[in-house]
Amino acid sequence: MALVKSVRIQISRCEELDYKRMSSIFRDIRYKTCRASNEAMRLFLLNAFQSIRYKELHDIYPDIKSLTGKSLNTYIYNSMKEIMDICQTGNVAQTQQFVKNRFNTDIKDLLVNEVSYTNFKKDMPLFLHNKSYTICKDEDSGKYKVECSLFNRQYQKENNIKRVTFVLGKMDGNQKATLDKIIAGEYKQGAGHIKQDKKKKWYFTISYSFEPQIRKINTNRILGVDLGMVNTAVLQIWDIDKQKWDWLEWKECMLDGGKVYNFNQRVEGMKRSLQRSRKVSSVTSPYSKGKKGRGVQARIKALNRLNHKISNFKDTINHQYSKYIIDFALKHNCGIIQMEDLSKIKDKAEEKFLAHWTYYDLQSKIGYKAKAHGIKVVKIKPAYTSLRCSKCGHIDKENRKEQAKFKCVKCKYKLHADVNAARNIAIPEIERLIEIEKEEVNAI
Ligand SMILES: [Zn+2]
Repeated sequence: MALVKSVRIQISRCEELDYKRMSSIFRDIRYKTCRASNEAMRLFLLNAFQSIRYKELHDIYPDIKSLTGKSLNTYIYNSMKEIMDICQTGNVAQTQQFVKNRFNTDIKDLLVNEVSYTNFKKDMPLFLHNKSYTICKDEDSGKYKVECSLFNRQYQKENNIKRVTFVLGKMDGNQKATLDKIIAGEYKQGAGHIKQDKKKKWYFTISYSFEPQIRKINTNRILGVDLGMVNTAVLQIWDIDKQKWDWLEWKECMLDGGKVYNFNQRVEGMKRSLQRSRKVSSVTSPYSKGKKGRGVQARIKALNRLNHKISNFKDTINHQYSKYIIDFALKHNCGIIQMEDLSKIKDKAEEKFLAHWTYYDLQSKIGYKAKAHGIKVVKIKPAYTSLRCSKCGHIDKENRKEQAKFKCVKCKYKLHADVNAARNIAIPEIERLIEIEKEEVNAI
């Protein structure tokens, strides 16, 4: 299965047009794109509801083509083309595809929940068909450029302009490598879009797809990942052939949760101060009761900003951690990653649920990246993995008297509690093993 990704780079200038003119053309196309998209959405919906009505009356869906002589898609495409009267036709088709995809998700919701459908906003992107643009690299300057076909023939003639070339701005090594691979044909170039950010800068987004590399990875080497509060993740490797654990550098196998901890502390502080300000304002302004005063709106805004910040932070951190874990698995030639199935944890406290939610996101990111490299992910039941001695298999609550230390009451083996848990998690068929060992404990 091909993986689809995208890369987004700022447009620093246009070779044929000055920046101001370029912006004004973008805005013009965007305005038309927005109008055409809303019209297309309206037509898709209208057709859907009319078809449903028709079916109710005639017990059969209408045949649009025999009624109008055109297929629905052609009809909508023509309507869009009329509105997007300066745009290259491939890009109109690409925009239609975008609207159609949105309609297909909207209609499911609409029929079930009666929520409102998408209303495209003026800040939406401009779409480019994958055949409407070419990426190239200027060998002299080292700069990357995108040659685009934005306009239809009529506009090209009238304005004596054919293709336009955008010079791309600063990019990091990863982005350059990606563009090189698209140019070389290693990655398949997909549709593109141009969008303005909040600071009014224009960005070019290029989507691309590729077949994930399936390397020969050793499935007899299992990486156990223990997710925890203090150390975000602890990694241990079990080698089935050698029947022993890999010796790992402490620093390498422990992902410090310090960053997360500090951030959470700061967020808690900010939330508290926001709550305090609510108490103060409700005391000082008794007349605004029941109304949404300025103070309330400012606080809602502040809270939204904070929540946005939190989710951004979690997303970034989880990307970093999941990348680290996958790189670690590849470096150590592990074909399997084992983790606890966190959806099986039942905690009443909401706080814990939210904490787990972050881990759930981290796990899904690990899963996605593992798949791209052909690494298998196995999820195991989390029960007893922290109470079991990874050396002798003895399960006992007494093994874990302290949070950070594990000391087996049977064989006296001592080690870091999270390392012990990660070792258990790395064992093949650990769930079955624990079932047996647990019964032995109960039998005593
Ligand atoms: Zn033991």
